[in-house]
Amino acid sequence: MSEQRYLPDDEYTREFEAEVTSVDETDRTAVLDGTYFYKEGGGQPADHGSLSWDDSSARVVDVRQDHGEIRHTLEGDLPEPGTTVHGDLDWDRRYAHMRYHTAQHVVSKVVLDEFDASTAGNQIHADRARIDFEPAHFDAEDLRTIERLSNDLIERDLPVEKSRRSRDALEAETPDGRTNLDLVPDHVDPLRAVTIGDVDVCPCGGTHVDNLGELGEIEIVERTSKGADVERIEFVLADPD
Ligand SMILES: [Zn+2]
Repeated sequence: MSEQRYLPDDEYTREFEAEVTSVDETDRTAVLDGTYFYKEGGGQPADHGSLSWDDSSARVVDVRQDHGEIRHTLEGDLPEPGTTVHGDLDWDRRYAHMRYHTAQHVVSKVVLDEFDASTAGNQIHADRARIDFEPAHFDAEDLRTIERLSNDLIERDLPVEKSRRSRDALEAETPDGRTNLDLVPDHVDPLRAVTIGDVDVCPCGGTHVDNLGELGEIEIVERTSKGADVERIEFVLADPD
């Protein structure tokens, strides 16, 4: 079992030491006793970066979870099990994912409140993100409304808190339609909660910034119909002033 060390609220650590617990020479993957690399999941891509030890190093080009193990796909040297390695995250990429993922929470909450539409899926990138809403039919004015309300929220510089909460407590607190907790296996308890000021709470295992002031301004750049009741919107973030 690899420890996901960024949980629940250590998402700004970008360098760390860890011990290699196993290596798969065929797949060229290494498992560490604990890691700060985010593994692909929940619409957020894997972190990239490097591992180094002694006189050797490898680039981390993918990170996936396989049951309880976090596998780092390596290009370059392969460490031996038992080696202590120094991990170094590609911070520009990770921090961009943190900003876009947090912005996704903001837009998802705004659309739920204003249009009663739930988030059916999302995909984060380092330079854009998209969210699928259902049931939804947005016109041009709706998009401007979503943009304006999202930016109003961001301008409040609200804190983003991450914590472990019991499943029951989080279930009681999460607004109806905000997330589908039924999709999270029953045995997962406690859950990781992401709370934006007094505005939003949502179970989520991704990485996020600590304050909405880090997001900058949201601009919706595209809307696509993805079926009878599903609308996809794509947005970009301008850097904060
Ligand atoms: Zn999240």
